Amino acid sequence: MLLPTASSFDLGSSSLPAPSLLHSDADGHLRTIKTLVHSTIKIPPTFALPSPILSLRLGNWVKLICGASFEDAADVRNLSLVYTLAGVDCIDCAADAPVVNAVNEGIEAAMSIAMVKRSWVMISVNDDEEDLHFRKAEFDPEDCPSDCPRPCEKVCPATAISLQWVLQEDDTEQNNRLGQLKGGVITERCYGCGRCFSVCPYDRISGYYLF
Ligand code: SF4
Ligand code: SF4
Repeated sequence: MLLPTASSFDLGSSSLPAPSLLHSDADGHLRTIKTLVHSTIKIPPTFALPSPILSLRLGNWVKLICGASFEDAADVRNLSLVYTLAGVDCIDCAADAPVVNAVNEGIEAAMSIAMVKRSWVMISVNDDEEDLHFRKAEFDPEDCPSDCPRPCEKVCPATAISLQWVLQEDDTEQNNRLGQLKGGVITERCYGCGRCFSVCPYDRISGYYLF
């Protein structure tokens, strides 16, 4: 079963609020998850779940790292929901209001499904101009050679690169134009891992920092 995700390619450079699960469950996603959880998982009662502080004392404190620059609010909300159900102690996310709201909504949605503990929310902020956690990739697809096999798209672990050939009205074999590469980096999904930088055979990808 898939949770609703934001169709991220047209989101632009800043994150947008995730489609709400709690306030409008018209498609029944939350009900479906609830049924699934209650029919397949035995969640211990809350008193048996260690608080985040007790987890720290016991040495089994677990944090979900969504990514300091990962800003796809719908994915962050879904991850927060699933990991809260799994009993995570803390959720670390980007310093972006829609993302923080998405984490909180994921936690609330999980708590409406089962009696699970409320995890802490940690917000990553940048105090370094070149901290790799806050890096984003960028390139102009119109500069990419038409015969490039697009290894950047294949290597990205966050599916943060999306490229399509788009035919223009005046593209013909006669004028040697058979379309234009469009798309590029989906900014809110890129978390700056750098894998695409090294695989680009034409050195077209560069990085910039959120600071
Ligand atoms: S740096 Fe490149 S490979 Fe890594 S997440 Fe961003 S777009 Fe994907
Ligand atoms: S690998 Fe480099 S040249 Fe090829 S599509 Fe990606 S950015 Fe463009």
